[in-house]
Amino acid sequence: MDADVPQLDGYRFVYVLPLSPSRVLVEDTYFSDSSKLDGEALRRRGLAYAAAHGLHPARVIREERGVLPLPSRLAAAPGDERPIVAGYQGGWFHPTTGYSLPAAVRLAEVIARLDVAQPESDANRAALRALARAHRAQARFFTRLNRMLFGWFAPDDRWQVLARFYALPDDVIGRFYAMTTTRADRARIVCGRPPRGLSLRRAMAHGWST
Ligand SMILES: Cc1cc2nc3c(=O)[nH]c(=O)nc-3n(C[C@H](O)[C@H](O)[C@H](O)COP(=O)(O)OP(=O)(O)OC[C@H]3O[C@@H](n4cnc5c(N)ncnc54)[C@H](O)[C@@H]3O)c2cc1C
Repeated sequence: MDADVPQLDGYRFVYVLPLSPSRVLVEDTYFSDSSKLDGEALRRRGLAYAAAHGLHPARVIREERGVLPLPSRLAAAPGDERPIVAGYQGGWFHPTTGYSLPAAVRLAEVIARLDVAQPESDANRAALRALARAHRAQARFFTRLNRMLFGWFAPDDRWQVLARFYALPDDVIGRFYAMTTTRADRARIVCGRPPRGLSLRRAMAHGWST
């Protein structure tokens, strides 16, 4: 994960994931205010990044693009509807990273343990409700972070928030990604000296809303 790249269009970082000795995934991510995606520019930047880091791409095997919403408020409570809507569409994702794998695995584990003989039993309902409640409590904190990140910091300064965040201990960062933050983690993430770049004018325009 390399955030030492030109900070275009909000906080930006590049992931390089080796998939085999001769194949890598180069992923270019932007925490943008806009949902517009310039596919050509992204391809150019991805290839240029690879070349600049000694990867010398011979060919592009596959491309994937997407714009993920990072919500500032929670939509309907996940888990209440029938049949249950899983995945991103059902709200089972991390509001700040846009990743859905941890929430998807957690939901799958709970569903796998349900009593299939009595789908609407009290025990089944209680298990789903408990998971939804835990997910929602975590998600609410992350939507608040989104309001701060996008509302209080200009796009060019957002990297400073993340620079501060990644200086936290690994276990705090791990629980952040896993959506299993503790109360102490949440305090560590938001308390203390604010990151550089906090714009009072911007924050007031956004009503300091947290
Ligand atoms: C470029 C990119 C990289 C990402 N990287 C990560 C990552 O590293 N880690 C992570 O956790 N998350 C990542 N995500 C976010 C998220 O996990 C993925 O988008 C994930 O694929 C979401 O899974 P999903 O099942 O909710 O939705 P989808 O993968 O979109 O699956 C929904 C499926 O339902 C189908 N469908 C929709 N409507 C209907 C219908 N009416 N009837 C039948 N089928 C229908 C769609 O065609 C689709 O196949 C990434 C997203 C993008 C775009």
